[in-house]
Amino acid sequence: MVLIVADDLGWGDLGCYGQRKWRTPHLDALAERGARFTDFYVAQPVCSASRAAILTGCYPNRVGIQGALVPSSLHGLAASETTLAEVARSRGYATACIGKWHLGWQPQFLPTRQGFDEFFGIPYSNDMWPGHPENPKDWPALPLFEGERVIEFVEDQSEFTARYTARAVDFIERSVAQRRNFFVYLAHPMPHAPLFASSSFRGRSGAGLYGDVIEELDASLGAIDAALERLGVADDTLIVFTSDNGPWLSYGEHAGDTGGLREGKGTTFEGGVRVPFIARWPGRIRAGTVVSEPAMTIDLLPTIARALDAPLPPLPIDGCDITALLTGEPGARSPHDALLFHYHAGHLEALRAGRWKLHLPHSYRTLREGERARDGVPVEYDYGARIELSLFDLEDDPGETRNVAAEHPALVERLCALAERAVQELGDGSRGLRGSAVRAADVAD
Ligand code: MG
Repeated sequence: MVLIVADDLGWGDLGCYGQRKWRTPHLDALAERGARFTDFYVAQPVCSASRAAILTGCYPNRVGIQGALVPSSLHGLAASETTLAEVARSRGYATACIGKWHLGWQPQFLPTRQGFDEFFGIPYSNDMWPGHPENPKDWPALPLFEGERVIEFVEDQSEFTARYTARAVDFIERSVAQRRNFFVYLAHPMPHAPLFASSSFRGRSGAGLYGDVIEELDASLGAIDAALERLGVADDTLIVFTSDNGPWLSYGEHAGDTGGLREGKGTTFEGGVRVPFIARWPGRIRAGTVVSEPAMTIDLLPTIARALDAPLPPLPIDGCDITALLTGEPGARSPHDALLFHYHAGHLEALRAGRWKLHLPHSYRTLREGERARDGVPVEYDYGARIELSLFDLEDDPGETRNVAAEHPALVERLCALAERAVQELGDGSRGLRGSAVRAADVAD
């Protein structure tokens, strides 16, 4: 298994999702030979919370991870949570976390304490770094970890994608040589600002640095796929590609493309929470499968556990087995009554049920009229925008432009009751159900 998570990559950033400014031939081929989900979601539109959901199958509220941890954060994902790596390890898989972790940097929270045999990468975001060329802040030096040891402090990020790709290939080669099944979690720090591409990709896309970075990520998948082929294991390997949240729009041309969806990272509009999701698994997933039923990253753990015939975690999880959707079973439907989008200290802001998206009244951040970033220097968001109780029909209106709540009072009432039930189950504040309390100063967004 190879699970690739890009950082802040938008729903519209890949050729197979309509992108025309730059090229993603390897990702497009992955979709052609596997399944592509049109309505796939992250659990929260921000790094740490989203990654907690990817790895545990739980809404971040349940496991007490909110927002984005910062270098001064003192908490992380609790050891009592079961991760995808622990599920894979329970079936004898060799496991590696490569790239960005962002679920706690103190020794007790590192990937090596969460089921990963190996960790090679950075403990949090690449912008929490004194070398950020466009937005320098007083961050401590950014460490690069090998296992639980800091082996260097990052000076230059140009080789990030190339180095993490090489390490993933190396891990796969070693696992195959040892005749072991493997699980690689390759969490690229790119295309999260500040952007960097290696010299062979800089200027190559003809679509600016952002395009160069995406083309290098695409080539990374190509290199991994070539290694799987060369080692004779491509037909036995599940590859998944997704993103942790939508584009960081305040970075202007250094941010991705939502493909026309509303808003971006840090909001529960579609541009923040809807991401690409592509999976290839020869013999299991029919080539050319396109899934439009809604699903979420929390579904990965139970779906993979079933595929491995591994037990589910002992503590309750929120994800559902979506094998039927993934494999393209005719008539397969979403197993969820509703998918929930919590944000800002765990408050429930929106939910998706079938074709419908309900926003509960909440404030959100947006770009000021006419103000756009230049050369990767971010602009300040306007945090004062507000949406009242609104219903959108995403089949007719994926851009969330026309509030149809008044036309569907019974449906709104039903969805509000669902939301109320979810808040009772998962809470609506800063304390996770079974994680530690999170102090406001401990996280960023
Ligand atoms: Mg992110």
